[in-house]
Amino acid sequence: MTFSERVKNELVRRKKDECPECAYAELGGFVHTAGSISILGRQRLSVTVEVDRPAIARRVFTLVKRLFGVHSVIAVRRSSRLGRHNTYVVNIPPSAQVTEVVRRLHVLDDDSSLTRGIPWRLVGDKCCQRAYLRGAFVVRGYVNDPVKGYHLEVTSNSFDHASDLVKLTTKWDIKAKTTEHKQRHILYVKGADDVSRFLQVIGADMALLEFENVRAMKDVRNQVNREVNCETANVNKTVEAAARQIDDIRLIDREIGIRSLKKSLQDVAVLRLEMPSATMEELGQALTPAVSKSTVSYRFKRIAAIADEIRKQQRGHPLVSDRRTAKPR
Ligand SMILES: [Zn+2]
Repeated sequence: MTFSERVKNELVRRKKDECPECAYAELGGFVHTAGSISILGRQRLSVTVEVDRPAIARRVFTLVKRLFGVHSVIAVRRSSRLGRHNTYVVNIPPSAQVTEVVRRLHVLDDDSSLTRGIPWRLVGDKCCQRAYLRGAFVVRGYVNDPVKGYHLEVTSNSFDHASDLVKLTTKWDIKAKTTEHKQRHILYVKGADDVSRFLQVIGADMALLEFENVRAMKDVRNQVNREVNCETANVNKTVEAAARQIDDIRLIDREIGIRSLKKSLQDVAVLRLEMPSATMEELGQALTPAVSKSTVSYRFKRIAAIADEIRKQQRGHPLVSDRRTAKPR
């Protein structure tokens, strides 16, 4: 089961609502996002909701029965195409109650035309807003496995409805946008913080736990990677510095002899040749008596100055060639 399916499974199994109106808002979310209405004649309406999982069809059925006392009919539409899911069609057949469903869920506007956006009367309370978003997500939503990335979307049939979903989502401090794909209007939410908040708002508590665990693990892994990169950079720096110091020491030894150096500089120079990959700190510890990292660093600065002096003099004598002075500067 994908992460998205686990989220939906959790949502359709919720038992408690925060207020009596929440169930209407949730069902409204189902019908406005994935429903259609057929007019079969005078006063004869039928409402259909198409979903892709039996558990969701059951949820629609249960809510319709609980709120309006109607038994809907669930039909399975088998997909002829390989790899495609079956579709579950929940139909509320024409009856006196359907008119009530249409009225109560504001499927039709006051002038009997199909409601395009979200009927705001249905989502007056905060808890009902969450229920509506939950309904919309359950029937047409998708969320990426957090292991792969942070992306969530809800597909809608109309631009007005998708825009209203964005408005509703934004009320909850979640950054959301719309995009269009194959004549469908899609609300999408990106980024760990906003996807996490959306899951929280629609009440997917268990899935949210899983999401946050994965996220924390990824954060730790990123942190470790950053530290490893940083260490690698430091090691590279140490290696480069050591190579320069060894060049300086060899030059001094070749030109004036290492013994011409002061004892303190001589010791550190000999040690460097013996321990080419040691850090300044390690060199300081290896000296007798041990000295601090900054003292070692100071001594190498002195050595570098002496080597530079030699190079300066060599420039006046082009026959004496040195690897570093031979390169154009
Ligand atoms: Zn409510």
